[in-house]
Amino acid sequence: MKGPILPGTLVNGQPATLGVMGGGQLGRMFVHAAQRMGYFTAVLDPDASSPAGLVSHHHIQTAYLDEQGLAQLMQRCAAITTEFENVPAPALVTLGAHRPVAPSAGAVAIAQDRAQEKAHFTRCGVPVAPNAVIETAAQLAAVPDALLPGILKTARMGYDGKGQMRVKTRAELAAAWGELKQVPCVLEKMLPLAAECSVIVARGADGQMVNFPVQRNLHRAGILAVTEVHEGNVSPALAAQAVAATRSIADGLQYVGVLCVEFFVLADGSLVVNEMAPRPHNSGHYTMDACDHSQFDLQVRTLAGLPLVQPRLHSPAIMLNLLGDVWAAHGGMPPWDRVLALPSTHLHLYGKLDAKPGRKMGHLNVTGKTVDEVRATALAATRLLGIEPF
Ligand code: ATP
Ligand code: MG
Repeated sequence: MKGPILPGTLVNGQPATLGVMGGGQLGRMFVHAAQRMGYFTAVLDPDASSPAGLVSHHHIQTAYLDEQGLAQLMQRCAAITTEFENVPAPALVTLGAHRPVAPSAGAVAIAQDRAQEKAHFTRCGVPVAPNAVIETAAQLAAVPDALLPGILKTARMGYDGKGQMRVKTRAELAAAWGELKQVPCVLEKMLPLAAECSVIVARGADGQMVNFPVQRNLHRAGILAVTEVHEGNVSPALAAQAVAATRSIADGLQYVGVLCVEFFVLADGSLVVNEMAPRPHNSGHYTMDACDHSQFDLQVRTLAGLPLVQPRLHSPAIMLNLLGDVWAAHGGMPPWDRVLALPSTHLHLYGKLDAKPGRKMGHLNVTGKTVDEVRATALAATRLLGIEPF
């Protein structure tokens, strides 16, 4: 990139426009952040009613590998990012030949494949769960007993616990691999988790990097349910270790953009890396209301080549994910009026009309003066919404 893409300027005769591959909620929040700063936006997503497409200046409604769609996106945009990691890497290669693309196709390709991702973590000196790659029947037979009980995960295309099966015995493992159509998989040993946490960094093309504080995450049925961020959510030593590991993982990729790394904290207090997301992450949604710069603001800055400044948490925060189940529990109409009557609640809905169970429909951020106050408000919200307390 020659210089920064400044908002509100003309680039090749058009208003400075930032593009995003994918039209889900992460794209929508990126579009909001970019527009607030004065950029025009373009979204490429095949879905006519995609959350980001609905709010963008331009919505290019084609498949991700459609040549004309990609050409239109390049024609419109000064730089392009991605909002979900299953965007085909070849599409990013095509775009990257003509426009700045961040994160790069190479970094996204590594994050798309659990086996490659684990190899990268190991190269960076960050411990991973004991695991084995299973691509052939011979590899299946050679799996050591020590990896059982374990979780069999497809190497590619998994999210929100999809493409994963828990297995206790070799017979279950073989059956599970069959059920996953014998695609390349990684078997991970089931670890005793004391907690889960994640770290989000933003890294510029010049190598400058800033980070958000460590997020403590609660997952239910493989889906993020609650994120808590405040002083003492994890021990300071663990937090420092997680931040250092995330920074080395980002540096090792020469990463440009926003990167989230998820970790397991084991019963003995040690840290094991789980996976990374080459984009803003669900566990960073609290930054929209509890930090002076959100993860989406920093995504805009890294893409446009603008300066990065260390974000500051100005309030303790708890984020509750709002899954389709909340709608089901209230006959399609959750009591938002009652939730919003609670102090410092910030509702974010993604514009999805079809509330299926397990579908991410929105999130609720709770801020406040003290951790106790935020916790009490968040628990009150769970009671109103019929979410299991945490
Ligand atoms: P995401 O939506 O975060 O991309 P995913 O489908 O890629 O999710 P993982 O992050 O691999 O799934 O796993 C989801 C959750 O399952 C983890 O957050 C953790 O709670 C549990 N889990 C995964 N692997 C293990 C393991 N090896 N040992 C114990 N629990 C695990
Ligand atoms: Mg995960």
